[in-house]
Parts: sequence; C-alpha cells; structure tokens
Amino acid sequence: MSTQPRIVEVRRNILKHNDQVAAELRERFQKAGVFVASLVSSPGSGKTAFLEKTLTLLKEKGYRPAAVVGDLATANDAERLARSQAPVKQITTGTLCHLEAAMIQTAIEGWDISELDFLFIENVGNLVCPSSYDLGENIRLVLLSVTEGEDKPLKYPTIFNSADLAVITKIDLADAVEFDRDAARSNIQSVRPGMPMLELSSKTSQGMDAWMAFLASKRPR
Ligand code: MG
Ligand code: ZN
Repeated sequence: MSTQPRIVEVRRNILKHNDQVAAELRERFQKAGVFVASLVSSPGSGKTAFLEKTLTLLKEKGYRPAAVVGDLATANDAERLARSQAPVKQITTGTLCHLEAAMIQTAIEGWDISELDFLFIENVGNLVCPSSYDLGENIRLVLLSVTEGEDKPLKYPTIFNSADLAVITKIDLADAVEFDRDAARSNIQSVRPGMPMLELSSKTSQGMDAWMAFLASKRPR
C-alpha cells in the first residue's frame, strides 16, 4: 500500500514513461549517427540566437544540422531558425512549460535522421521542470546570459546539475552590465563541479570557434 499522495504517483508514472521513450530515442539517434544536444535556459537567455548562429556555421562547414524548437505559444523561433536553411520543426506546447520525449518523437516523424549530423533541441524557456525530462539527447546545455545575474546557478541548482555544458551568452554585453565573470563561473562550479563552460556572443561570434571545435570533436569526419 502506498502512502504517497496520488498526484505524486501520477507524476512518477509520467516520468517513468518519459524515460522509456527517451531511451528509445537515444538508441535511434545513436544508430543513425546523429549527435543530439538540448538547450535549456530562462526565457530571453539567447537560446534561439545561439542556435541560429550554430546552424548557420555548421551549414557553412558542410555539416547537416537540424533543430526542434519548443515554445509555449508562437512559431517565431522556428521561422527565425529556418533562415539558416536547416530543417526546423516547431513544437507549440500550449500551457506545458517543458518538452517531453514523446514530443520529440512526433516532431521528427518524417525526417530521415540518418541524413543528419546534428540535432538541436531548444527547450521551452524555464529553469525548473525541464531538468526532470530526459529527451534522449547526448548532451544538455544550460545557457546563462550576462544580463541575468551571477547567482542563477545557486537559485536553480537542479537544472545546472542536470546539464553537461554551461554556456555564458551575450558576453559582448558583459562590461556594460558589469557582469561578474568570476562569481558566475564559481557559482556554476559550486553546483556542478568540473562542468565545462563556454563564454560566447552570438552577435559578435566571440567564442563560437570553441563551440564549433567541440561539435566537430563529436562528429569527426
Ligand atoms: Mg527561443
Ligand atoms: Zn514544465
């Protein structure tokens, strides 16, 4: 007999189902030889700008990237990303504030993923529940912009702890907003010791070389 409230049990079952779908996806991605990275952050941290730049640079280098982008209401991000000429699918979640593995499964229906080198998944802007949902990705990036405050990692430790790579965005604005780089970096490291960190600007391209080198190391050819 369970002493857990029903709502907790329902939630646990949803997560268990999500994990199963995510595991299936991960196996499919691996067989297809596509490297999958998901992006989480607060709204306005620059996920879409970062992704647009990433898709454009990868296309220029002859890679075949694609993106799935989640948003509560609009398809604006997908339209913006489509300018890169990469295949892009929008998932409009309505009131749901995160993506689930089954949504990724549906979004990529009709794509031959073996034709892709990279798949990027932009999660809904939210630093809370996306941490609980495995999407079958190889790595999860957590973005933190210099305009947000250096203590974000301390306020939302779970999402930083569930990520594999921290990306500090809008670095071109660091001086203007008196961004405390050392504090941000040490807060990230205190939550997730040893997590690799990148600092970059999608606007000036500063730091994008290191990101491209990282991706190239995942899909050597
Ligand atoms: Mg966006
Ligand atoms: Zn949510």
